Amino acid sequence: MTTLVFMESVGDELSQQAVTFAGGLGGEVAAVAFDPSEAYAPAAWAQTLVALAQERSAAAVVAPGTDRGNEVLAHVAAKLDQPMSANCMTATPGDPATVVRMRWGGSLLEEARVHGAPLLLSVAPHAVAPTVPAEVLVTPVSAAASDADRVVRVSETIPASTAGVSLADADVVVSGGRGVGSAEGFSVIEELAALLGGAVGCSRAVTSAGWRPHSDQVGQTGTKISPEIYIACGISGATQHMAGCKGAKRLLAVNPDGEASIFASADYAVIGDLHEVVPAISAEIRKVRGT
Ligand SMILES: Cc1cc2nc3c(=O)[nH]c(=O)nc-3n(C[C@H](O)[C@H](O)[C@H](O)COP(=O)(O)OP(=O)(O)OC[C@H]3O[C@@H](n4cnc5c(N)ncnc54)[C@H](O)[C@@H]3O)c2cc1C
Repeated sequence: MTTLVFMESVGDELSQQAVTFAGGLGGEVAAVAFDPSEAYAPAAWAQTLVALAQERSAAAVVAPGTDRGNEVLAHVAAKLDQPMSANCMTATPGDPATVVRMRWGGSLLEEARVHGAPLLLSVAPHAVAPTVPAEVLVTPVSAAASDADRVVRVSETIPASTAGVSLADADVVVSGGRGVGSAEGFSVIEELAALLGGAVGCSRAVTSAGWRPHSDQVGQTGTKISPEIYIACGISGATQHMAGCKGAKRLLAVNPDGEASIFASADYAVIGDLHEVVPAISAEIRKVRGT
């Protein structure tokens, strides 16, 4: 049995985890990455994977559980008219195969039977340890990809405007929610984050309002963070938000509503208006530093 693994890039840790996962299915693992000069085009990449899977009679195609991994694999599933199982923690091949999938931001594990071949799986981030594959086939997009497959593609990449530390890697994250009140209101959040050498995050209420870009969103459908301290200001603590910050070592919440559910997870609670509390913390830091 051959399992084809789609790697976002050779050095990508979640793709390497997908390689380990594929190894656990038994049989040979063939890792595939696209030539970095190729613009991301999900349907065209999927068509290439379909061609490779057919050429090698692959019994399974595995991808990392990332935005791109899931998107490309969903196109593979549509092209092959087969089911796809996203966010798998474990998989046992068979007829039907059995998979355990992580759902609801990790609060639910679902065991499911999957019929059809090849088995199409994306791997939940950190379900297994990463393995660097011995060999990766770096391929251009197949000639089998049609013009229609190339219609949706990345035409330009604009670097994030946030200089410095990234949200996913930051030791300190200062986030604002709907309680911030406006895009301009984020100046106090930015100021505190800058003083602490941290990154700015936000809730989905904020990205939905257009106050911050989606790249700042923490949560189930945003970035998963694991800072030393997470300072959440004006955020109620919805399950979908908490799914993104449960890796934080410490949580400081600022909210005037003492009943807000975020306080159930908080190590430190300040019951008050963020527009008073956050500038006061910044002023105190400056005072201590003598700046
Ligand atoms: C499928 C799905 C996926 C989702 N994914 C995400 C996700 O990835 N990330 C995410 O965040 N959400 C996500 N959501 C949305 C989530 O359910 C909540 O709606 C959202 O997190 C609420 O954002 P919030 O806490 O900023 O707003 P609210 O729930 O409206 O809370 C605002 C808080 O601000 C407080 N407040 C008001 N004024 C002040 C003030 N002056 N100072 C301090 N506090 C103040 C209020 O007391 C309140 O607690 C998802 C929802 C669904 C259905």
